[in-house]
Amino acid sequence: MTLTVGELRTALSGTVFAPEDAGYDEARRLWNAEHVREPAVIAQVHSAEDVQAAVRYAVAEGLEIAVRGGGHNMAGLSSVDGGLMIDLSRLNQVAVDPEARRARVGGGALLRDLDGATQEHGLAVPAGIVSHTGVGGLTLGGGMGLLTRMHGLSIDNLESIQVVTADGSILRAAEDENADLFWAVRGGGGNFGVVTEFEFRLHRVGPIVNYGIAFWGQEQGSEMLRAARDVIPALPREVNVVIACLNAPPAPFVPAEHHFKLGYALVMVGFGSPEQHAEAMARIRGLVPPLFEFATPMPYAAVQQLLDEPNAWGAFHYEKGTYLEALTDAAIDVITDQVPRKTSPMSATMFYHLDQGYLETPDDATAFSGQRGERYAMFVIATTPVLEALEPERAWARSFWDAMQPHAISIGSYVNGMAEPEEARIRASYGDKYDRLVELKRKYDPDNVFHRNQNINPAAA
Ligand code: FAD
Repeated sequence: MTLTVGELRTALSGTVFAPEDAGYDEARRLWNAEHVREPAVIAQVHSAEDVQAAVRYAVAEGLEIAVRGGGHNMAGLSSVDGGLMIDLSRLNQVAVDPEARRARVGGGALLRDLDGATQEHGLAVPAGIVSHTGVGGLTLGGGMGLLTRMHGLSIDNLESIQVVTADGSILRAAEDENADLFWAVRGGGGNFGVVTEFEFRLHRVGPIVNYGIAFWGQEQGSEMLRAARDVIPALPREVNVVIACLNAPPAPFVPAEHHFKLGYALVMVGFGSPEQHAEAMARIRGLVPPLFEFATPMPYAAVQQLLDEPNAWGAFHYEKGTYLEALTDAAIDVITDQVPRKTSPMSATMFYHLDQGYLETPDDATAFSGQRGERYAMFVIATTPVLEALEPERAWARSFWDAMQPHAISIGSYVNGMAEPEEARIRASYGDKYDRLVELKRKYDPDNVFHRNQNINPAAA
């Protein structure tokens, strides 16, 4: 028996929006303003049972399904023209058990919900570096951030999930229950169902940590990157470094003469002692004298929000990423040649150095789209304030990526950084794990009900 929209409204404890309803426009918005979609129905769910009803409704009606966690998917896949958007934003409760060091996190929570609740107890779990990103999409793809060097990816700290699968079943998946599904969701994205709850293991973090940034001018890039590649891996495990190629922000800690200057930054967050962090800053400073630097103790939750404003909702974006085994001289030549070719001061290139905690989970233990060898995850992120400016930036990101290819591990990348999730790149990203993912997709979602994602096609040969 199929439901009407009116009956769906009655069936859900959450809210249903049709295009004429107040609240529809707000609910359908996505972070990347390039993508404006018009779903036929939005189900703003409040429970796993609501998700179940929404999935069953869409399948019965033949409606394409999109699942929205934090809405940050670059390709705008978390909404859908003419289909049903399952909006998880109200499923954002976080319950922390400080004794057991566990958090139960709603499938639509944002990183700031997670950090806020866990930091009340001096606890945290590795997640991303912008606090308005969704826990859902981030975790299902892997989840890398400032705590990854210490404690691995978000998925490496996942204990269990509750998920609504394509046939409307509500399942638990963990090492001891539906273990194959648990493997698949740890890296396989939204392909296997709608996760209504994540259970994470937590670590002692902060609440005060040490933040530091050093910034070099464009002309220093080559020398600084060559020096940094030796120092970064040798820093203590408690010091996490991200390399960012960007325009210096007009922030209070940036001397006025360097505002908007294009250059290279090392962002260093220390989870050890202030002395250890000062020592790491001194080693970085000793590489090549930076134009400016800044270091301060800060609450971890505040560090997690430092990049919120530069990445605010409403701008236009494109992204292309890859993995590098090392920052070779040839790779650095490409980087320093390509970075100045961007035309938008909002665009940036980031490198996460993955080692230590990242390497401690065996590669085949999860479906993560990147092998557990030491590497850099590279992200070229084009950002413009208006749509008209996006095309040249998109062209820049693509040509940067093309130029990096001879130095990259494969055409694959971390799937969460794909603005164009083409099948060949998805396959290359998962490598040897792809066939198992296809097998599990056939088991849990044979009709590809959940395909608005970095899709594992159940019909793939
Ligand atoms: P959404 O657009 O809501 O969802 C993305 C995908 O995941 C969709 O396919 C959706 O269907 C699926 N999905 C979301 N929630 C669920 C759920 N509960 N159950 C099933 N499927 C679900 N990644 C990192 O690893 N580290 C970072 O530091 C980082 N920083 C970022 C900063 C910004 C500003 C942005 C835009 C992205 C960043 N990312 C980072 C990438 C990020 O992990 C992905 O964009 C991720 O998809 C965002 O999740 P979301 O829930 O906000 O997205």
